[in-house]
Amino acid sequence: MLTRPSLSPSISCVIPAYNEARILGTLLRESLATLKQLSSQVELIIVDDGSRDDTTQVMHALCNTYPELVYLKLSRNFGKEPALTAGIEAAKGDVVVLMDGDGQHPVSLVTDMLAKWREGADVVYAVRKTRHDQSGLQIKLTGWFYKLVNMGNRVKIPANAGDFRLMDRKVVEALKRLPERNRFMKGLYAWVGFNSTAIDYEPLPRADGKSNFGLIGSLSLAFTGILAFSIAPLRALTVTGFMLSILALGYGVWVVGEYFITGIAVPGYATIVVGMMFFSGIQLLSIGILAEYVGRIYEEVKQRPNYLVSQRLGQGLPLQQPP
Ligand code: UDP
Ligand code: MG
Repeated sequence: MLTRPSLSPSISCVIPAYNEARILGTLLRESLATLKQLSSQVELIIVDDGSRDDTTQVMHALCNTYPELVYLKLSRNFGKEPALTAGIEAAKGDVVVLMDGDGQHPVSLVTDMLAKWREGADVVYAVRKTRHDQSGLQIKLTGWFYKLVNMGNRVKIPANAGDFRLMDRKVVEALKRLPERNRFMKGLYAWVGFNSTAIDYEPLPRADGKSNFGLIGSLSLAFTGILAFSIAPLRALTVTGFMLSILALGYGVWVVGEYFITGIAVPGYATIVVGMMFFSGIQLLSIGILAEYVGRIYEEVKQRPNYLVSQRLGQGLPLQQPP
């Protein structure tokens, strides 16, 4: 593995923020202090994902105080994945750190991440040791999700790894080449590959407010993840259809045979009704699953941008000259 023992990279730190105005001041001050100890060239990119609180005013004031800040205001709430994409596309550093804007990701961990990067890792992702902030049901569902999405897949998405990570420039460039609209970032990180190393961390409690992802939000993201990273549901349909056909054929042969042997025409009202309900259920389910894929194809072909920026403050790092 190529190591980078003596390099002092410029660092971009991307923070998506949705209604986090109350803690941004403290968070940015602390993050900047830590990052500046690690490198002389630092930029902190705050992506305001259409916040409805006074994030804009707070950020204007902060940008006047700290020249390292870049403020990107999206034109509305696009969601965390598009916000991260906006930040990644704006980042100019040799390494890019992604961090939540709610204080749950300890910035002190970036020191360890950078050490791993120096040892040669291209991606260093933080794996949460515990899930104290989640209910038992959520933990169970998360476990099932990773089992399902990784089933028979060449690309394995590491369980319990979130967006908190450090990436080398070449990984960022690779991510920027993935143009899809339904962005399940955890899948995209895994898809691009490169040398990846995990480090454990203990997520801190949210500094203020509450999580934006309840059960429904998490389920919807999980759905995107499964549909965008696996065609297993489609394959399951094919297999189910095939097996049911064989079963139906066998049953038909048996019914005809029974008539000729015993001479009894089966008074099978119940069988017909149950059979009909079962098969229409399967058919509707199949159409539904197909429709999910078609709907996503529809979203892709529209080719709409993933996000729109309505305001930008701060210069950030100077543009790198290609070597
Ligand atoms: N976030 C965002 N857009 C959204 C929802 C969330 O940019 O529509 C940001 C939020 O400000 C935070 C991060 O994504 O910095 C993680 O959100 P949250 O803490 O609600 O999720 P959790 O930590 O519970 O997964
Ligand atoms: Mg959080």
